[in-house]
Amino acid sequence: MLHKTWVEIDERALVKNIESLRGLLEGSARFCAVLKANAYGHGFLEVARIAGRAGVDAFAVDNIDEALILRSEFPSALIIVLGYTMRERYQDVIASNIHITVYDRESIVGLELIAAERAKTAFIHLKIETGTSRQGVLADTLYDILGDIGQAAHVALAGVSTHFANIEDTTDTQFANQQFAVFQQCVSAIRQAGFQPEWIHCACSAAIILYPDTHQTLVRSGISMYGLWSSDTTEQTSRRHNVALELEPVLTWKTRVVQVKYLPAGTPIGYGLTEILRKNSRVAVLSVGYWDGYDRGWSSVGEVLVSGTRCKVLGRVCMNMMMIDVSAVPQVDVEQEVILLGRSGRFTVTADEMAKRIGTINYEIVTRINPLLPRIVV
Ligand SMILES: *Cc1c(COP(=O)(O)O)cnc(C)c1O
Repeated sequence: MLHKTWVEIDERALVKNIESLRGLLEGSARFCAVLKANAYGHGFLEVARIAGRAGVDAFAVDNIDEALILRSEFPSALIIVLGYTMRERYQDVIASNIHITVYDRESIVGLELIAAERAKTAFIHLKIETGTSRQGVLADTLYDILGDIGQAAHVALAGVSTHFANIEDTTDTQFANQQFAVFQQCVSAIRQAGFQPEWIHCACSAAIILYPDTHQTLVRSGISMYGLWSSDTTEQTSRRHNVALELEPVLTWKTRVVQVKYLPAGTPIGYGLTEILRKNSRVAVLSVGYWDGYDRGWSSVGEVLVSGTRCKVLGRVCMNMMMIDVSAVPQVDVEQEVILLGRSGRFTVTADEMAKRIGTINYEIVTRINPLLPRIVV
C-alpha cells in the first residue's frame, strides 16, 4: 500500500552507525540503544528490532509502557527506564524485570514492599545529581538512600548513572569534568558501602564520541545512533581530534504532491494571505502539514526536494497540507514523491538545517515527526 506521508528508515545506515559507535567504546563498555521518543521519531519497534539484530546490549526508554512493549519482543534484554516511574506501576516493573531509574528514598520503600510480597527482585539504577539539576540524588543524601537500599532485601542496585549538562554545545570541558569527578566519587562511595552495581553509566552521544573516559560499563547512545550529531560543536571537535566516526542519517521523511497548478503573479497563497506570488508560478500542494510534524515555523521559509530540486514552502503551513513553489522543476505529477527531510539527487535537506531555520535542534525535528505516520524499513 502506498502512503501519502511516511518515514523511511535505512536499516543499513542504522546498523553501520551502531557498529561505528561500538568501535569507539573503551574497555568492556556495553552499548545501550536509547529508544525514547518513538526512537527519536524513527519508529520504536522498527528501530528496536534492527538494533536487537545488530546485537546491542541494552535498551533505554522513557517510561514503563515503552519498556513493557520491548519486553514482549526481547524476553531477556536489559531494559532501563530513564524517566520517572509512577508507584502504581511498580508491580509491572517487578513482574517484567524492568530496570528503573530511582533517586529518592520513598521509591526504595515502595519497591521493597511490592517485590517482597511477590518474592521477586526490583532492579534499580540510582541516578546521581552531578550538575544537570534534573533527576538525581544529591551527593549529601547518598548515604541515606544507600542505607535504605541496604535494608531492602528485594531491591538490587543494578546500576548507577548520571547525565551531563554541558557537553554538546561547548568546547569547554570544565563543567563536564567536574560532573564526572562527582560521579566517580559517588560510585566509589557506593562500592565502599558494599554495593557492586554492574552498570555504571553516564555517557550520551557527545560523551561517547569525545570523552572515552566516561564510557564506564555502559553507554547510552541516542542521536548518534540515528546518524545525527549532537551539535555542530560535537561534530567539529570530533573531526579536529580525528575520531574515526562517520555518521549516516537513517531517516528520510516523504510526502506526495496532491495538486499542481499555474498561478499568476499577485496571487495570495494560503491562510492569512501571508505570501503573494511575485511572478507567475507553478504551485504544488503537498499532503503534509503541522499535524504531521512539519512545523508551522517553516511557513514561507522551509525547503523540500522535488525530483532533486530544492523548492520553497509558500505561505503558511496548514494542518494537513502545504503549498510549495515548483516553478523550477521541469515535470511535476500528482502523487509524485517529495522529500521533506533527506537526500534527493545532489541536494539534501538535513535535520540540522531544518532545526536552524526555526531556532531549535535536530533532536526536536526528528522526535516531533508524528508517530502515527507509517515507518517503512528500507
Ligand atoms: C536522551 C538521553 C540520552 C541520549 O542522549 P543523546 O545525546 O541523544 O545520545 C542519554 N541519557 C539520558 C539520561 C537521556 O535522557
